[in-house]
Amino acid sequence: MSNGLASLLSNRQLKCEVCDCLINYPDTLLIKDTNYTVCRAFDCQRIMNKKRLMTPFMFQSHLDFNRTLIRKNREKSIATKLHIEQVTAREKQENQQHLKNTLITNAHISENDIYMLTIPSGDSASSTCEKQRLDDYIEHLKSIIIEAENYNNASEVAFDEHQDAYSKRRAVENSFIEKPQLKTISDNLCTMCKGGCCASGKEHAYLSVFSMRRYMDSNPGLTGNEILNIYTSFIQPESINESCINQTTSGCALPRDLRSDICNGYYCDPLKQYHKNMLSIDTPEVILAIQRSYTYWDRFKLNVCNDVINVALVDEHDINFTTDFSKHTKE
Ligand code: SF4
Ligand code: SF4
Ligand SMILES: [Zn+2]
Repeated sequence: MSNGLASLLSNRQLKCEVCDCLINYPDTLLIKDTNYTVCRAFDCQRIMNKKRLMTPFMFQSHLDFNRTLIRKNREKSIATKLHIEQVTAREKQENQQHLKNTLITNAHISENDIYMLTIPSGDSASSTCEKQRLDDYIEHLKSIIIEAENYNNASEVAFDEHQDAYSKRRAVENSFIEKPQLKTISDNLCTMCKGGCCASGKEHAYLSVFSMRRYMDSNPGLTGNEILNIYTSFIQPESINESCINQTTSGCALPRDLRSDICNGYYCDPLKQYHKNMLSIDTPEVILAIQRSYTYWDRFKLNVCNDVINVALVDEHDINFTTDFSKHTKE
């Protein structure tokens, strides 16, 4: 170890030259050259690696530019984290109040028999499908069909998140076999939500080469063109604004066997947590579903007022709304 580095390490106050963060002691041991004092962040390492390739003047301006960028991004991510914490704390408090009110008005239900969760809302406004959206969707279908035809079966398709989704889907289906009421209750919650997670389906609907090849494997008599015609036959004249092209006011227009594994196996975090909790204990008789106005992906956006729009007691058979929120609208 050089004397310079040893003395720098001894005071343990090394700072990253790029992002200015204090470098913790274990990380200082990774530093081999005091002329390149840098933390382990990928961006900082990448920027500092230019030092040996540039003149001091060029490197300084490169460093100044990237420092400003990194500082701005860091401030943004701290602000986002704080915003999420504040929203989460406020909503938690509101949810507790709704639980309290529900228990007061439903004296026959004990707190131990209620499982409270929050669900988002799919948008309800629909409009005529724009030509560009249709073209993009059809183009996407054509391209994954052509690529899927290059494989003999789904096991040949390179591993990606879609195979992972298939395994997750199988795991979810197995948990539903173990506890069928989980599926019924989840279906009721998703009906109430109206696809708050489908907003990100856009013009791809999560359909991939892997899901298409699996569909081909299950339907070996169909040609690529016939498969394309099957998919396009389910396109509706109207779809929900800024959501998946297949989402309509009455739900997903695609039958389950045509949907991707991501769609068939996906549950938002509150439902996933509910499934996890319920597998190890007895299913409580009733769910207190607190529905908020924004989609799953928009709920933490700045300037979003994610009001409660519905509170309902949900069980295997029914969705019973407990409060009239008809005056609330999305702001
Ligand atoms: S999984 Fe969650 S976000 Fe998606 S439809 Fe169901 S309740 Fe809504
Ligand atoms: S295909 Fe259906 S389930 Fe999948 S994202 Fe689109 S609307 Fe939602
Ligand atoms: Zn750094």
